[in-house]
Amino acid sequence: MSEQGANINLLLPCPFCGGKADFNQETNSEWYVACANRNCHITPITPGFYTRFQARLAWNHRPKVSPEYYQPDADEFTGLKVVGGVGDEITQKP
Ligand SMILES: [Zn+2]
Repeated sequence: MSEQGANINLLLPCPFCGGKADFNQETNSEWYVACANRNCHITPITPGFYTRFQARLAWNHRPKVSPEYYQPDADEFTGLKVVGGVGDEITQKP
């Protein structure tokens, strides 16, 4: 797909918490994208890339998951309860 006309700043939301993602640049000038939600329990981050464009492509890439491997159950996550704050375990209600 062409980048012409596309918003080069567009980042999809975090695939785990739905939160906002941000561009970041290391002191060695590598670019990465990370979830900016401080309450995200996964906090995904792309590896360092030489360009902002590459970091954006990596973050926005969402592969299709074959139903052969994953068939989400609508009730799968309703029994999960977050215990404590960031970094604590997520446990399932008895
Ligand atoms: Zn997140």
